[in-house]
Amino acid sequence: MHPLAKLDHRHLWHPFTQMRDWLKHEPIVIKSGQGAVLRDVKGREYLDANASIWTNLHGHNHPKINAAIRRQLTLIAHSSALGFANEPASLLAARLVKKASPPSRLQPKLNKVFFSDNGSTAMEVALKLAYEHAQRSGRSNRPRFLTIDGSYHGDTMGAASLGQIGLFQNSFAGLRFKTDKVMAPYCYRCPFNRAKPERADAREYRKCNWECTDKVEHAFAAQKNRGNPYAAMVVEPLIQGAAGMIPQPKGWLRRVSAIARNHGAQIIADEVMTGFGRTGTFFASHSEGVQPDFLCLAKGITGGYLPMAATLTTQAVFDSFLGEYAEFKTFFHGHSFTGNQLGAAAALASLDVLESSASIKARRSLEQSLRTELESLWPLQHVGDIRQVGLIAGIELVRNWRKREPFDLRERVGIRVCEAMARRGVLTRPIGNVVVLMPPYCASATQVRRMVSALREAVSEVLSNPAA
Ligand code: PMP
Repeated sequence: MHPLAKLDHRHLWHPFTQMRDWLKHEPIVIKSGQGAVLRDVKGREYLDANASIWTNLHGHNHPKINAAIRRQLTLIAHSSALGFANEPASLLAARLVKKASPPSRLQPKLNKVFFSDNGSTAMEVALKLAYEHAQRSGRSNRPRFLTIDGSYHGDTMGAASLGQIGLFQNSFAGLRFKTDKVMAPYCYRCPFNRAKPERADAREYRKCNWECTDKVEHAFAAQKNRGNPYAAMVVEPLIQGAAGMIPQPKGWLRRVSAIARNHGAQIIADEVMTGFGRTGTFFASHSEGVQPDFLCLAKGITGGYLPMAATLTTQAVFDSFLGEYAEFKTFFHGHSFTGNQLGAAAALASLDVLESSASIKARRSLEQSLRTELESLWPLQHVGDIRQVGLIAGIELVRNWRKREPFDLRERVGIRVCEAMARRGVLTRPIGNVVVLMPPYCASATQVRRMVSALREAVSEVLSNPAA
């Protein structure tokens, strides 16, 4: 075993990992990366098929981001935002505000930016701000939040309380505060109808009657009747990530946002995964004409280089924290690395690349390549559903596609398929039985073909799966 792998085995505890399984195999130790390729200490090369857990945008070792970080390093790596401003953080805040400007003038403008370190902290900030704002604006003295089933917003306890994935939360149930949830628009497993025929010979389906958004209306009405209207609704716009890459049907986001607004509730958009062009538009909320009151960003904000996050909000929320010092209306929250210069410099360079016409064109063409390649998976009998939004794809593996029968999680089908993909030089991670493909924007059509081929071969190997 490589000496670094030995050290890892001796001392490291990996996230979301059953360490007994981890210790059975020599881990892949990543040494370097270039574009969409990762290289390990033994010189083997792999495609980074989930963009290093959904963070990387333009590829590894990008010359422009590297140069921006180096330039910043000659000045300073970090100084505290507690008490001082700094150049890259100010510039980045202004750029983010500009990108987040509303699709319609009637909607609230996001013009204040609170920086933090990761997706969970971006959500934590939104949650605390919405909580206090609801109290100070007189909406509720016991603010309560409505969330979507299967949602994931991070692992700090506030963010985890907003999340609704039982498996991740059961052990911490006693630590979570209570939130409510409504059903997710999971069309593939819709309890009301077979909303979409996945293949030509799929069973009968019926027209969608938007029962799922009716449930949202009912939840808002019921909570109002209890005398404590919801402070805010929390959504992952367009596609829920850790729920299993579950896209929302066109119009869902617009409808539920209108319901929330009609009830006077705020909207917290978790764009930790969907932001920065992942779904096609710059921010996913904008593709449905929705302007949230809180926009939470992380992962891709620095192009996937450094831990940084931002929570954007409105003047109205900001104003509710203004007062004389002695009133103690200050937002008592912050982190040591808030507004870090290296992260902000990387983010500014990433935005430059993202806005270039070459990147916009490449993303469009990559989205099409991914769509074309994914088509080739339909004939596999254990491929139940293929879901793609922009440059995010989830392939749901099932025991029987006609009945949409899932595999028991204990069978570790997703994990085994991803292990088989790794043996073919393609790295990604499953969400239960859903295999995720999320290439960096710099991936070539050939690289995307290799990612999908590896998945096809891996499914056949693991499930001894002849074409149906
Ligand atoms: N929100 C969403 C939608 C996410 O996908 C994630 C991470 N997968 C988070 C929040 C939490 O981000 P982090 O892991 O950076 O804390």
